[in-house]
Amino acid sequence: MNHFEQLGLAPALLQAIEKMGFEKPTPIQEASIPVLLDTGRDVLGLAQTGTGKTAAFGLPLLQLLQTENKHTQALVVCPTRELCNQISRDLSAFSSFMPGIEIAAVYGGSSMDKQIQSLRRGAQIIVATPGRLMDLMSRRAVKLEQVSMVVLDEADEMLNMGFEEDVEHILSFTPAGKRVCLFSATMPPEIRRIAKKYMTDPLEVAVGKENAGNENIEHEYAVVNSRDKYAALKRVLDYTGDHFYGIIFCTTKMETQDISDKLIKDGYNADCLHGDLSQQQREKVMNRFRHKAVRIMLATDVAARGIDVSGLTHVIHYHLPDAIENYTHRSGRTARAGRTGISFTLLNVREAYRLKEIEKKANIRFKRIQIPAAREVLDRKLLTFTQTIASQDVDESMFSQEHFDNMEVLMAMDKGEIIKKILSLELKRFAADYLNAPDLNAGDKAAASVEQADGSSTRIFVSVGKKDGFETMNFKDWVAEVSGVKKKFLHVYVKGVYSFVDASAADVPALLETLNKQEVDGRVVRAEVTARAADQGERKFKGKSRGNFGQDREREGGWKKQPWSGGKKSSGSGNFSGKRDFAQTGFKKKKY
Ligand code: ADP
Ligand code: MG
Repeated sequence: MNHFEQLGLAPALLQAIEKMGFEKPTPIQEASIPVLLDTGRDVLGLAQTGTGKTAAFGLPLLQLLQTENKHTQALVVCPTRELCNQISRDLSAFSSFMPGIEIAAVYGGSSMDKQIQSLRRGAQIIVATPGRLMDLMSRRAVKLEQVSMVVLDEADEMLNMGFEEDVEHILSFTPAGKRVCLFSATMPPEIRRIAKKYMTDPLEVAVGKENAGNENIEHEYAVVNSRDKYAALKRVLDYTGDHFYGIIFCTTKMETQDISDKLIKDGYNADCLHGDLSQQQREKVMNRFRHKAVRIMLATDVAARGIDVSGLTHVIHYHLPDAIENYTHRSGRTARAGRTGISFTLLNVREAYRLKEIEKKANIRFKRIQIPAAREVLDRKLLTFTQTIASQDVDESMFSQEHFDNMEVLMAMDKGEIIKKILSLELKRFAADYLNAPDLNAGDKAAASVEQADGSSTRIFVSVGKKDGFETMNFKDWVAEVSGVKKKFLHVYVKGVYSFVDASAADVPALLETLNKQEVDGRVVRAEVTARAADQGERKFKGKSRGNFGQDREREGGWKKQPWSGGKKSSGSGNFSGKRDFAQTGFKKKKY
């Protein structure tokens, strides 16, 4: 007897659930499944990552299908290909005792022909990323006239990635009377807005606090100098040892690749996942990670989004994410399905205010820890190695007297000598790193300034960036020079065609006044204060672009490479943060 039965699920689904080992429904499942089964209402489901949202919509969706009808009846739209694969895999598993159900996964970066074929066979369920689905729609390979239910999964991320217009377009090709269900891990105001726009009197099913941290996650940080970050990362990995199984989040594809290359070179079992890899490569990496053949995965936010790998012990933030929601999403990769996990940030002082901001907005508390000293790492290594030896099972049949006879050299040594030799062998790889290794914690002064940071700095958007020949250093010099604000009071982030300057409120008027008077390459510079939620400035620039449908859009650098129809006016609805003028002007300045 299990509680899933009480939710009104059909025997075939209950059988599959049992086979999958789900014992009882999660809160979001308990709340959504009956509503989806018994009422015709739209559902707005809000629950943290890892709480079983896929089954919350997937099980009722399957039960409501008319199996004998081969037309597409249900459409699940999600932001990334990984997620697309994951959801269709989950749906297949749920429907393993329901013959005659066809599910087509439709996403960019892999063969269009194959997907068309699978659609031709008659898929009752399509799981799709927006871009590829639109491509297939325009080729008339999908028919949505009989769709009775649309699920927008990870809706917050679809907004972040600029898919709103695409989703709107897709919805406009589905029947007016369909149900729309929206699932999301976070509830920024934009989600409420689109819910209002696309859903009819939705029933809101919210489980847990909005943006509440998963209580099974411990949030930790250590303050390090930028130049020590990599060494600190290695030390944390060494200290954690072989049971480490986690994702290390980087900001850019390049950094992801770079750190992963370095780790591999330094003898770690690492790999990386980012948008520059081919679909095939990504799947290979994911599989190896899923099966723990690789235990350290470097990833960008976008690439790791929605990945459901269970049992991760750690999430490491090599840098804090630009968007606070992304912190929640990242750390939600660990501590899934009731387990515990650690979300650890390698923080340098300039990132301090973000930490405070995340504490406030995501309602979590960070605990400061120290990067272990070299000595501690060695001690711990020795201890675990000793324990491993002590607990090792021995298969006597493997050894014969002859073996021992041939080991005279060893037999002649005393115990202490043998032990030292064995341990030296084990620790060889670390010896070079750990002899005379420095303390990697930033000084107390730095740490104190992190603790005092209160998020009161102000972020200014400036309409010039790398495209204009700026890099962090010369941009900071330039800003300091024109504004008269001392460099040490400025933090700058130089992006593709724009940049951010973080400064204390007192310096903002001077910055705005002077920067707005500048010209770069004959172009008038525009500077304005962004909403302090540092993510918003960023997010605005990620939408809109067309032309690489279905490709994951990476955080940095990705969009500026996309073909851009210069000056094209976007139609109506595409901005999420209500600051459209901001984003548009930013774009219009740059005609490609
Ligand atoms: P979300 O979409 O909310 O992030 P998922 O649907 O991906 O979460 O589910 C997270 C993990 O929990 C998956 O591995 C899934 O198989 C597992 N899971 C889902 N529902 C249950 C349940 N009722 N009991 C046990 N495990 C579950
Ligand atoms: Mg999900």
